[in-house]
Amino acid sequence: MKRVYNFSAGPAILPEEVLREAAEEMLDYRGCGMSVMEMSHRSKMYQNIFDEAEADFRELLNIPENYKVLFMQGGAHLQFSMVPMNFMKNKVADYIVTGQWAKRAFEEAKQYGQANCIASSADKTFSYIPDCSDLPISENADYVYICENNTIYGTKFKTLPNTKGKDLISDVSSCFLSEPMDVSKYAYVYGGVQKNIGPAGVVIGIIREDMITEDVLPGTPTMCRFKTHADNGSMYNTPPCYGIYICGKVFKWLKNMGGLEEMQKRNIEKANVLYDFLDQSKLFIPNVAKADRSIMNVTFVTGNKETDAKFVAEAAASGFDNLKGHRSVGGMRASIYNAMPKAGVEALVDFMDRFERDNR
Ligand SMILES: *Cc1c(COP(=O)(O)O)cnc(C)c1O
Repeated sequence: MKRVYNFSAGPAILPEEVLREAAEEMLDYRGCGMSVMEMSHRSKMYQNIFDEAEADFRELLNIPENYKVLFMQGGAHLQFSMVPMNFMKNKVADYIVTGQWAKRAFEEAKQYGQANCIASSADKTFSYIPDCSDLPISENADYVYICENNTIYGTKFKTLPNTKGKDLISDVSSCFLSEPMDVSKYAYVYGGVQKNIGPAGVVIGIIREDMITEDVLPGTPTMCRFKTHADNGSMYNTPPCYGIYICGKVFKWLKNMGGLEEMQKRNIEKANVLYDFLDQSKLFIPNVAKADRSIMNVTFVTGNKETDAKFVAEAAASGFDNLKGHRSVGGMRASIYNAMPKAGVEALVDFMDRFERDNR
């Protein structure tokens, strides 16, 4: 067996310990004679798996009592619709557009009411986060929406926008559990787990209780109401059982690693190995304004498309996989989520250093 260093943006690397444990339990989960995949979601055995996952998740993020945790499906994309369908009571919402995922959410919201783009970094190919300290927040805005870590471009909000008292809603898909987060600053925060937590097919939402109401836009499907999921313990219908089970194992792994403060420390160290190399390189150029750099997704170019392609191909041949940038921007992207060991980033930097000497 040979495992590569996988720099994919998502679905992405998972801790090897978690995969091994899941493999061991595949045919017979703890003596019950069946796989978790084969279990009724209404069984006591599965409810225990689910409850433990939620409890560990709440502990990791120190989630206040007045927030509910929801496990859902449909990816981040369904959230782009669910957010306006559930929260656009005045039919006005303000969006900060810092990349393709924020833009998709913004475009989707336009179907349901007046969505305003109150700030954008489109003028410089989303390579920075705009100043959000004094934005023209709409007086009757139902919420302000951000995408906190921009997976494709490699930027991250280091401070949350000043929403002037409006509810903040955030997509944290690609920075979920990468560092501690003050949940009380958000009315609703969600993420698809396939970036930094688990297998594709699960979305976790953390919702302040007063945001859960019957008062949703007319025509909102039952499955798209947060209240449906909240009232039924995320089991109104069959949940993505196996995915949640793997997420639960990742939560345990994170707790064993020392929790999110420790992960943040490690993630900053890891990102610095790569950014320090990029900052002194004569071949590779980092894409993003220094102050706004993501510690999860690191984007860079050589300035020459052929050299970029050569680098990606040679890297893959040497066991550094999925370094090609998103198809909308090109160049390179190294996603260095929680499960990527520092040794993987160091090995990548060694490889880049050799490539630079051979190709200048
Ligand atoms: C990947 C990603 C998405 C899209 O996720 P899907 O699960 O494919 O819908 C949305 N937002 C962010 C920040 C992402 O990284």
